[in-house]
Amino acid sequence: MSNIVERKISDLIVKIERPNCIGSKNCINAAPDLFELDDEQICSFNENTEGISREIIVEACSVCPVSALYVFDESGKQVVP
Ligand code: SF4
Repeated sequence: MSNIVERKISDLIVKIERPNCIGSKNCINAAPDLFELDDEQICSFNENTEGISREIIVEACSVCPVSALYVFDESGKQVVP
């Protein structure tokens, strides 16, 4: 898997900087439908992330302790962190 993966969900772009992830699972506890740990114990997107609300996305990405998760709105403005 590439080191940086991103996906458009709801009206947001979510980006995972995989090299930064320490596998703490804070994001997964906040949004188990959005993220999972892969075989390398690094955060990745769940297969189906349709319909996850903006609030859940922002909350789940805000609890990452190491700045591995970034969120941008449609205009490209950074929302998280
Ligand atoms: S909260 Fe951050 S460090 Fe923890 S699993 Fe998620 S992306 Fe990785």
